[in-house]
Amino acid sequence: MNKTWQNYLKLIDRAAQKSNLTDKQKRDLIEPDRILEFEVPLGDKKYRGFRVQFNGTRGPYKGGLRFHPQVDLDEVKALSGWMTIKTAVVDIPMGGGKGGIEVDPKKLTKKELEELSRNFVREIYKHIGPDKDVPAPDVGTNSQIIDWMVDEYEKLTGKKAPASFTAKSIKNGGSKGRLEATGQGGSYVLEALAKKIDLKEGTVAVQGFGNVGAQFALAAKKLGFKIVAVSDSSGGYYFKDGLDIAKIKSRKDKGVSVIEAAKKIHEGGREITNDDLFTLNVDVLVPAALENVITTDNAKEIKAKAIIELANGPTTAKADQILKEKSLIVPDVLANAGGVTVSYFEWVQNKKGESWSKKEVFEKLEEKMKKSFEEVWVKKENGLRDAAYALAMERLF
Ligand code: GLU
Repeated sequence: MNKTWQNYLKLIDRAAQKSNLTDKQKRDLIEPDRILEFEVPLGDKKYRGFRVQFNGTRGPYKGGLRFHPQVDLDEVKALSGWMTIKTAVVDIPMGGGKGGIEVDPKKLTKKELEELSRNFVREIYKHIGPDKDVPAPDVGTNSQIIDWMVDEYEKLTGKKAPASFTAKSIKNGGSKGRLEATGQGGSYVLEALAKKIDLKEGTVAVQGFGNVGAQFALAAKKLGFKIVAVSDSSGGYYFKDGLDIAKIKSRKDKGVSVIEAAKKIHEGGREITNDDLFTLNVDVLVPAALENVITTDNAKEIKAKAIIELANGPTTAKADQILKEKSLIVPDVLANAGGVTVSYFEWVQNKKGESWSKKEVFEKLEEKMKKSFEEVWVKKENGLRDAAYALAMERLF
Protein backbone atom coordinates (compact mmCIF):
# COMPACT_ATOMS: atom_id res chain seq x y z
CA MET A 1 0.00 0.00 0.00
CA ASN A 2 1.33 3.43 -0.86
CA LYS A 3 2.40 5.72 1.97
CA THR A 4 0.02 8.55 1.08
CA TRP A 5 -3.03 6.28 1.08
CA GLN A 6 -1.86 4.73 4.36
CA ASN A 7 -1.59 8.20 5.84
CA TYR A 8 -5.04 9.11 4.53
CA LEU A 9 -6.53 5.99 6.15
CA LYS A 10 -4.93 6.81 9.50
CA LEU A 11 -6.36 10.32 9.43
CA ILE A 12 -9.82 9.00 8.53
CA ASP A 13 -9.60 6.48 11.36
CA ARG A 14 -8.82 9.26 13.79
CA ALA A 15 -11.62 11.46 12.44
CA ALA A 16 -14.13 8.57 12.51
CA GLN A 17 -13.39 7.95 16.17
CA LYS A 18 -13.51 11.61 17.18
CA SER A 19 -16.75 12.26 15.26
CA ASN A 20 -18.36 8.92 16.16
CA LEU A 21 -18.99 8.00 12.54
CA THR A 22 -21.08 4.93 11.74
CA ASP A 23 -19.41 2.12 9.75
CA LYS A 24 -21.34 3.23 6.67
CA GLN A 25 -20.16 6.83 7.04
CA LYS A 26 -16.57 5.71 7.51
CA ARG A 27 -16.84 3.50 4.43
CA ASP A 28 -17.98 6.54 2.43
CA LEU A 29 -14.63 8.14 3.22
CA ILE A 30 -12.60 5.06 2.35
CA GLU A 31 -14.32 3.66 -0.73
CA PRO A 32 -14.47 6.05 -3.69
CA ASP A 33 -17.73 6.27 -5.66
CA ARG A 34 -15.91 5.53 -8.91
CA ILE A 35 -12.39 4.72 -10.05
CA LEU A 36 -11.41 5.23 -13.67
CA GLU A 37 -8.06 3.71 -14.58
CA PHE A 38 -6.91 3.59 -18.18
CA GLU A 39 -4.08 3.88 -20.64
CA VAL A 40 -3.37 7.22 -22.27
CA PRO A 41 -1.69 6.77 -25.64
CA LEU A 42 1.03 9.09 -26.91
CA GLY A 43 2.56 8.05 -30.22
CA ASP A 44 3.58 4.44 -29.74
CA LYS A 45 3.88 4.88 -25.96
CA LYS A 46 1.22 4.43 -23.29
CA TYR A 47 0.95 6.08 -19.89
CA ARG A 48 -1.20 5.16 -16.87
CA GLY A 49 -4.09 7.56 -16.37
CA PHE A 50 -6.54 7.92 -13.48
CA ARG A 51 -9.63 9.80 -12.39
CA VAL A 52 -11.11 9.01 -9.00
CA GLN A 53 -14.55 10.37 -8.17
CA PHE A 54 -14.42 9.97 -4.45
CA ASN A 55 -17.54 11.50 -2.97
CA GLY A 56 -20.25 13.58 -4.61
CA THR A 57 -22.81 14.04 -1.84
CA ARG A 58 -22.22 17.81 -1.64
CA GLY A 59 -22.06 18.51 -5.38
CA PRO A 60 -20.11 17.68 -8.56
CA TYR A 61 -16.76 15.95 -8.00
CA LYS A 62 -14.01 18.55 -7.89
CA GLY A 63 -10.24 18.34 -7.93
CA GLY A 64 -7.04 18.60 -9.89
CA LEU A 65 -5.13 16.52 -12.39
CA ARG A 66 -1.53 15.70 -11.56
CA PHE A 67 1.12 14.88 -14.15
CA HIS A 68 4.03 13.39 -12.22
CA PRO A 69 6.13 10.20 -12.36
CA GLN A 70 4.99 9.32 -8.82
CA VAL A 71 1.26 9.27 -9.65
CA ASP A 72 -0.46 5.96 -8.90
CA LEU A 73 -3.95 4.84 -7.98
CA ASP A 74 -3.40 4.94 -4.21
CA GLU A 75 -2.03 8.47 -4.38
CA VAL A 76 -4.94 9.67 -6.50
CA LYS A 77 -7.40 7.99 -4.13
CA ALA A 78 -5.91 9.75 -1.11
CA LEU A 79 -5.81 13.11 -2.87
CA SER A 80 -9.43 12.78 -4.00
CA GLY A 81 -10.45 11.84 -0.47
CA TRP A 82 -8.76 14.97 0.82
CA MET A 83 -10.61 17.04 -1.81
CA THR A 84 -13.87 15.72 -0.35
CA ILE A 85 -12.84 16.97 3.08
CA LYS A 86 -11.42 20.24 1.74
CA THR A 87 -14.54 21.29 -0.16
CA ALA A 88 -16.55 20.60 3.01
CA VAL A 89 -14.16 22.61 5.23
CA VAL A 90 -14.57 25.72 3.07
CA ASP A 91 -18.23 24.86 2.53
CA ILE A 92 -18.47 25.01 -1.24
CA PRO A 93 -21.20 22.90 -2.91
CA MET A 94 -18.84 20.44 -4.54
CA GLY A 95 -17.50 16.97 -3.82
CA GLY A 96 -14.04 15.45 -4.07
CA GLY A 97 -12.16 14.04 -7.04
CA LYS A 98 -8.64 13.84 -8.40
CA GLY A 99 -6.83 12.43 -11.38
CA GLY A 100 -3.57 12.33 -13.16
CA ILE A 101 -1.08 10.61 -15.38
CA GLU A 102 2.07 8.76 -14.36
CA VAL A 103 4.39 10.82 -16.52
CA ASP A 104 7.20 13.35 -16.23
CA PRO A 105 5.81 16.33 -18.19
CA LYS A 106 9.25 17.98 -18.18
CA LYS A 107 10.44 15.26 -20.54
CA LEU A 108 7.76 15.94 -23.16
CA THR A 109 7.72 18.52 -25.93
CA LYS A 110 4.84 20.99 -25.98
CA LYS A 111 3.25 19.08 -28.84
CA GLU A 112 3.46 15.80 -26.98
CA LEU A 113 2.01 17.37 -23.84
CA GLU A 114 -0.94 18.67 -25.85
CA GLU A 115 -1.56 15.28 -27.44
CA LEU A 116 -1.34 13.50 -24.08
CA SER A 117 -3.74 16.01 -22.47
CA ARG A 118 -6.27 15.64 -25.29
CA ASN A 119 -6.01 11.85 -25.20
CA PHE A 120 -6.61 11.92 -21.46
CA VAL A 121 -9.91 13.72 -22.06
CA ARG A 122 -10.92 11.14 -24.67
CA GLU A 123 -10.71 8.51 -21.94
CA ILE A 124 -12.81 10.36 -19.36
CA TYR A 125 -15.12 12.75 -21.20
CA LYS A 126 -18.23 10.62 -20.77
CA HIS A 127 -17.82 10.70 -17.01
CA ILE A 128 -17.13 14.40 -16.47
CA GLY A 129 -18.95 17.67 -17.14
CA PRO A 130 -20.04 20.92 -15.44
CA ASP A 131 -22.59 19.17 -13.20
CA LYS A 132 -20.80 15.84 -12.85
CA ASP A 133 -17.09 16.23 -12.32
CA VAL A 134 -15.01 19.36 -12.84
CA PRO A 135 -11.22 18.85 -13.06
CA ALA A 136 -8.56 21.55 -12.56
CA PRO A 137 -4.75 21.64 -12.51
CA ASP A 138 -2.49 20.25 -9.79
CA VAL A 139 1.24 19.47 -9.67
CA GLY A 140 2.68 19.36 -13.21
CA THR A 141 -0.36 20.83 -14.97
CA ASN A 142 -1.41 24.41 -15.73
CA SER A 143 -3.96 26.60 -17.50
CA GLN A 144 -2.52 25.79 -20.93
CA ILE A 145 -3.16 22.08 -20.36
CA ILE A 146 -6.67 22.85 -19.08
CA ASP A 147 -7.37 24.96 -22.20
CA TRP A 148 -6.45 22.02 -24.43
CA MET A 149 -8.66 19.76 -22.33
CA VAL A 150 -11.69 22.06 -22.53
CA ASP A 151 -11.23 22.34 -26.27
CA GLU A 152 -11.07 18.56 -26.62
CA TYR A 153 -14.08 18.10 -24.33
CA GLU A 154 -16.13 20.57 -26.39
CA LYS A 155 -15.12 18.84 -29.63
CA LEU A 156 -16.13 15.44 -28.28
CA THR A 157 -19.45 16.56 -26.81
CA GLY A 158 -20.28 19.03 -29.56
CA LYS A 159 -21.23 21.85 -27.20
CA LYS A 160 -19.64 24.84 -25.47
CA ALA A 161 -18.86 23.95 -21.89
CA PRO A 162 -16.52 26.43 -20.18
CA ALA A 163 -17.66 25.22 -16.75
CA SER A 164 -16.38 21.68 -17.48
CA PHE A 165 -12.90 22.51 -16.14
CA THR A 166 -11.52 25.29 -13.94
CA ALA A 167 -8.29 27.31 -13.89
CA LYS A 168 -8.52 27.93 -17.61
CA SER A 169 -6.56 30.83 -19.04
CA ILE A 170 -8.45 34.10 -18.58
CA LYS A 171 -9.07 34.49 -22.30
CA ASN A 172 -10.79 31.11 -22.32
CA GLY A 173 -13.09 31.81 -19.37
CA GLY A 174 -10.71 31.36 -16.44
CA SER A 175 -11.24 33.43 -13.31
CA LYS A 176 -9.02 36.35 -12.52
CA GLY A 177 -6.97 35.49 -9.46
CA ARG A 178 -7.15 31.71 -9.95
CA LEU A 179 -3.41 31.48 -10.69
CA GLU A 180 -2.58 33.16 -7.38
CA ALA A 181 -5.48 31.62 -5.44
CA THR A 182 -3.83 28.80 -3.48
CA GLY A 183 -0.89 30.93 -2.34
CA GLN A 184 -3.08 33.97 -1.76
CA GLY A 185 -5.53 31.87 0.28
CA GLY A 186 -2.60 30.57 2.34
CA SER A 187 -1.56 34.14 3.08
CA TYR A 188 -5.04 34.94 4.43
CA VAL A 189 -4.71 31.94 6.71
CA LEU A 190 -1.29 33.16 7.85
CA GLU A 191 -2.74 36.60 8.55
CA ALA A 192 -5.59 35.09 10.58
CA LEU A 193 -3.16 32.89 12.50
CA ALA A 194 -0.90 35.84 13.35
CA LYS A 195 -3.87 37.42 15.14
CA LYS A 196 -4.22 34.33 17.35
CA ILE A 197 -0.65 33.47 18.25
CA ASP A 198 2.59 35.42 18.50
CA LEU A 199 4.62 34.64 15.40
CA LYS A 200 7.60 36.53 16.83
CA GLU A 201 9.85 37.89 14.06
CA GLY A 202 7.53 36.61 11.34
CA THR A 203 10.25 34.61 9.61
CA VAL A 204 9.05 32.07 7.05
CA ALA A 205 10.65 29.14 5.17
CA VAL A 206 8.86 27.83 2.07
CA GLN A 207 9.61 24.38 0.68
CA GLY A 208 8.64 24.24 -2.99
CA PHE A 209 8.75 27.14 -5.41
CA GLY A 210 6.19 26.04 -7.97
CA ASN A 211 3.08 28.13 -8.52
CA VAL A 212 1.74 27.62 -4.98
CA GLY A 213 4.96 28.22 -3.04
CA ALA A 214 6.00 31.23 -5.12
CA GLN A 215 2.58 32.94 -4.99
CA PHE A 216 2.35 32.34 -1.27
CA ALA A 217 5.84 33.78 -0.68
CA LEU A 218 4.93 36.90 -2.68
CA ALA A 219 1.67 37.39 -0.79
CA ALA A 220 3.19 36.71 2.65
CA LYS A 221 6.00 39.18 1.97
CA LYS A 222 3.41 41.81 1.08
CA LEU A 223 1.84 41.22 4.50
CA GLY A 224 5.18 42.03 6.10
CA PHE A 225 6.51 38.52 6.74
CA LYS A 226 10.18 37.85 6.14
CA ILE A 227 10.76 34.93 3.76
CA VAL A 228 14.22 33.76 4.81
CA ALA A 229 14.35 30.49 2.86
CA VAL A 230 12.86 28.94 -0.26
CA SER A 231 13.65 25.77 -2.16
CA ASP A 232 12.80 23.76 -5.25
CA SER A 233 13.60 20.16 -6.15
CA SER A 234 17.29 20.99 -6.67
CA GLY A 235 17.78 22.62 -3.25
CA GLY A 236 17.21 25.82 -1.36
CA TYR A 237 18.68 29.12 -0.27
CA TYR A 238 18.71 30.89 3.09
CA PHE A 239 19.20 34.61 3.61
CA LYS A 240 18.57 35.92 7.11
CA ASP A 241 17.52 39.44 6.06
CA GLY A 242 14.73 38.14 3.83
CA LEU A 243 14.73 37.08 0.19
CA ASP A 244 13.62 39.19 -2.78
CA ILE A 245 10.88 36.78 -3.87
CA ALA A 246 9.76 38.71 -6.97
CA LYS A 247 13.30 38.71 -8.36
CA ILE A 248 13.86 35.03 -7.60
CA LYS A 249 10.53 34.17 -9.21
CA SER A 250 11.25 36.11 -12.38
CA ARG A 251 14.56 34.26 -12.79
CA LYS A 252 13.03 30.91 -11.90
CA ASP A 253 10.33 31.54 -14.54
CA LYS A 254 13.12 31.69 -17.11
CA GLY A 255 14.19 28.18 -16.15
CA VAL A 256 16.88 28.84 -13.53
CA SER A 257 16.89 26.87 -10.24
CA VAL A 258 16.10 28.60 -6.94
CA ILE A 259 19.73 28.27 -5.79
CA GLU A 260 21.12 29.76 -9.00
CA ALA A 261 18.59 32.58 -8.92
CA ALA A 262 18.96 33.47 -5.22
CA LYS A 263 22.77 33.19 -5.16
CA LYS A 264 23.12 36.02 -7.67
CA ILE A 265 20.72 38.31 -5.79
CA HIS A 266 21.77 37.69 -2.18
CA GLU A 267 25.49 37.14 -1.93
CA GLY A 268 25.46 36.98 1.85
CA GLY A 269 23.11 33.98 2.01
CA ARG A 270 23.84 30.28 1.91
CA GLU A 271 22.77 27.22 -0.03
CA ILE A 272 20.76 24.66 1.92
CA THR A 273 19.20 21.31 1.15
CA ASN A 274 15.46 20.62 1.34
CA ASP A 275 16.18 18.63 4.51
CA ASP A 276 17.96 21.64 6.08
CA LEU A 277 15.01 23.87 5.26
CA PHE A 278 12.65 21.91 7.50
CA THR A 279 14.83 22.30 10.56
CA LEU A 280 15.64 26.02 10.21
CA ASN A 281 15.05 28.27 13.15
CA VAL A 282 12.02 30.07 11.66
CA ASP A 283 8.60 31.04 13.00
CA VAL A 284 6.56 29.60 10.14
CA LEU A 285 7.30 26.57 8.00
CA VAL A 286 5.39 26.11 4.74
CA PRO A 287 5.61 22.81 2.86
CA ALA A 288 4.32 23.70 -0.62
CA ALA A 289 5.37 20.78 -2.82
CA LEU A 290 4.56 17.09 -2.45
CA GLU A 291 3.27 14.75 0.26
CA ASN A 292 5.13 12.90 3.06
CA VAL A 293 7.98 15.37 3.57
CA ILE A 294 7.46 15.91 7.30
CA THR A 295 8.05 12.49 8.84
CA THR A 296 9.30 10.90 12.06
CA ASP A 297 12.81 11.44 10.64
CA ASN A 298 12.66 15.24 10.80
CA ALA A 299 9.68 16.09 13.04
CA LYS A 300 11.81 16.18 16.19
CA GLU A 301 14.18 18.72 14.64
CA ILE A 302 11.46 21.11 13.46
CA LYS A 303 11.57 24.41 15.35
CA ALA A 304 8.81 26.41 13.66
CA LYS A 305 5.97 27.66 15.86
CA ALA A 306 3.48 27.18 13.06
CA ILE A 307 3.29 24.97 9.98
CA ILE A 308 1.01 25.98 7.12
CA GLU A 309 0.41 23.02 4.82
CA LEU A 310 0.09 24.30 1.27
CA ALA A 311 1.00 20.90 -0.17
CA ASN A 312 -1.55 18.10 0.11
CA GLY A 313 -0.59 15.52 2.73
CA PRO A 314 2.89 16.85 3.57
CA THR A 315 2.85 15.55 7.17
CA THR A 316 2.62 11.86 8.05
CA ALA A 317 0.16 10.91 10.80
CA LYS A 318 3.00 9.87 13.12
CA ALA A 319 4.93 13.10 12.59
CA ASP A 320 1.70 14.96 13.23
CA GLN A 321 1.53 13.43 16.72
CA ILE A 322 5.15 14.40 17.48
CA LEU A 323 4.61 17.96 16.28
CA LYS A 324 1.41 18.46 18.22
CA GLU A 325 3.39 19.19 21.36
CA LYS A 326 5.32 22.11 19.92
CA SER A 327 3.98 23.45 16.60
CA LEU A 328 0.55 24.59 15.54
CA ILE A 329 -0.29 22.93 12.22
CA VAL A 330 -2.78 24.53 9.86
CA PRO A 331 -3.80 21.44 7.88
CA ASP A 332 -3.82 21.16 4.08
CA VAL A 333 -7.61 20.73 3.91
CA LEU A 334 -7.93 24.28 5.21
CA ALA A 335 -4.63 26.02 4.36
CA ASN A 336 -4.52 25.20 0.63
CA ALA A 337 -8.26 25.40 -0.03
CA GLY A 338 -7.89 28.80 -1.71
CA GLY A 339 -7.27 27.08 -5.05
CA VAL A 340 -10.44 25.06 -5.14
CA THR A 341 -12.40 27.99 -3.68
CA VAL A 342 -11.51 30.23 -6.62
CA SER A 343 -12.11 27.25 -8.92
CA TYR A 344 -15.63 27.24 -7.53
CA PHE A 345 -15.89 31.00 -8.13
CA GLU A 346 -14.77 30.40 -11.72
CA TRP A 347 -17.42 27.72 -12.19
CA VAL A 348 -20.09 30.10 -10.86
CA GLN A 349 -18.91 32.90 -13.17
CA ASN A 350 -18.96 30.53 -16.18
CA LYS A 351 -22.47 29.35 -15.36
CA LYS A 352 -23.78 32.90 -14.90
CA GLY A 353 -21.81 34.31 -17.81
CA GLU A 354 -20.06 36.78 -15.50
CA SER A 355 -16.49 37.96 -15.12
CA TRP A 356 -15.47 39.25 -11.70
CA SER A 357 -12.53 41.59 -11.12
CA LYS A 358 -9.45 40.29 -9.33
CA LYS A 359 -10.29 42.59 -6.42
CA GLU A 360 -13.73 41.05 -6.08
CA VAL A 361 -12.35 37.51 -6.33
CA PHE A 362 -9.72 38.19 -3.64
CA GLU A 363 -12.30 39.84 -1.35
CA LYS A 364 -14.57 36.81 -1.62
CA LEU A 365 -11.61 34.47 -1.16
CA GLU A 366 -10.42 36.34 1.93
CA GLU A 367 -13.87 36.17 3.46
CA LYS A 368 -14.15 32.42 2.76
CA MET A 369 -10.69 31.56 4.07
CA LYS A 370 -10.97 33.65 7.22
CA LYS A 371 -14.48 32.42 8.02
CA SER A 372 -13.39 28.79 7.58
CA PHE A 373 -10.30 29.46 9.69
CA GLU A 374 -12.48 30.78 12.53
CA GLU A 375 -14.88 27.85 12.25
CA VAL A 376 -11.95 25.46 12.58
CA TRP A 377 -10.24 27.50 15.31
CA VAL A 378 -13.16 27.26 17.75
CA LYS A 379 -12.96 23.45 17.60
CA LYS A 380 -9.23 23.21 18.09
CA GLU A 381 -8.84 21.54 21.51
CA ASN A 382 -7.10 18.59 19.78
CA GLY A 383 -5.28 20.63 17.18
CA LEU A 384 -6.43 22.28 13.97
CA ARG A 385 -6.28 19.12 11.86
CA ASP A 386 -8.74 17.24 14.04
CA ALA A 387 -10.87 20.38 14.18
CA ALA A 388 -10.96 20.72 10.38
CA TYR A 389 -11.87 17.04 9.96
CA ALA A 390 -14.61 17.34 12.60
CA LEU A 391 -16.08 20.34 10.79
CA ALA A 392 -15.97 18.46 7.48
CA MET A 393 -17.67 15.41 9.05
CA GLU A 394 -20.54 17.62 10.28
CA ARG A 395 -20.99 19.04 6.80
CA LEU A 396 -20.67 15.74 4.98
CA PHE A 397 -22.98 13.71 7.19
N1 GLU B 1 -5.33 20.88 -7.23
C1 GLU B 1 -5.83 21.85 -6.29
C2 GLU B 1 -6.04 21.22 -4.94
O1 GLU B 1 -5.41 20.25 -4.59
C3 GLU B 1 -7.03 22.60 -6.82
C4 GLU B 1 -8.21 21.78 -7.17
C5 GLU B 1 -9.31 22.54 -7.91
O2 GLU B 1 -9.16 23.74 -8.13
O3 GLU B 1 -10.29 21.90 -8.25
O4 GLU B 1 -6.79 21.71 -4.13
